[in-house]
Amino acid sequence: TNVLPVAIVTGASRGIGKSIVNRLSREGISCIAIASSKKSIEGIKLDDPLMLIHEKQRHRSLAIDLSQWPQWTASEKHFGIDYHENKSGYFPLYDMWKDSDTIYQPTLLVNCAGITQQSLSVRTDVDTITKLMNVNFMSSVSLTNMTLKQMIKNRKRTRADTRTNRPCIINICSVLATSDLTVPGTSVYAASKAALSQYTKVVAQEVNPCNIAIVSISPGLVPATDMLKGLECDGQSHLQKLASTFGTCTPEQIASQVWDIYNSTE
Ligand code: NDP
Repeated sequence: TNVLPVAIVTGASRGIGKSIVNRLSREGISCIAIASSKKSIEGIKLDDPLMLIHEKQRHRSLAIDLSQWPQWTASEKHFGIDYHENKSGYFPLYDMWKDSDTIYQPTLLVNCAGITQQSLSVRTDVDTITKLMNVNFMSSVSLTNMTLKQMIKNRKRTRADTRTNRPCIINICSVLATSDLTVPGTSVYAASKAALSQYTKVVAQEVNPCNIAIVSISPGLVPATDMLKGLECDGQSHLQKLASTFGTCTPEQIASQVWDIYNSTE
């Protein structure tokens, strides 16, 4: 029986997450691409950004509104589109495809969904703070825990199979959280990413004995995405400073970084 790897990627409808599923699928990995709504997953299509490069490769997208934490964690099924069966319907998050000679297992989780803040802290209302924390931090923690359970269970089953990569979880943080540079208008955003960064460090140590890699990436400015569009002018000018300090990068470069981390055995 073959064990084929599956990547679960949030934020897959746009920007960095879209580049990540594009890269992973071009490398032959089956993908579960997650975005917030039915409408946004309808934009995730075969050939753009998902690719099929071998017969056994499968893809599915799921609509999960990560701002509705913890409610979404209690849902057994989520609306989705399965590109192999060519149908939409409700699918459990970890119910992978079944094939007589192939087992599909999640070996990579990329928590990439994120929302940005658009005002100074004093003008940020409770609903916005809740959403920022739920999408950027709480949901990433829940997805990490849920996926870890699957990875630990699967490793017991397929421990002898050395052909599959070491399971890996990658959390997308930000230099706004991990450097000394502070940008007005990003207080709760930066705090949510700082929380995710520190969470990642501690949980990585906790699962070290299971040989599961958990790391975070802290990109600098990615000018090509939607994330920066809503920032106030003052925030924009600070971000220019950020760009000149740390440089900028493209979604494709971050996707390459994800691919390199997934393939490294360190
Ligand atoms: P975009 O704004 O381009 O895309 C955001 C993605 O997150 C979309 O796929 C969106 O889905 C998804 N998302 C937003 N809200 C929810 C929700 N409630 N439930 C589920 N999914 C949701 O962002 P980027 O590609 O620029 O950023 C990706 C990640 O990288 C973020 O975590 C961001 O903080 C981080 N980052 C970005 C930088 C940048 O300069 N752009 C720099 C450093 C880090 P939908 O289409 O359904 O809304």
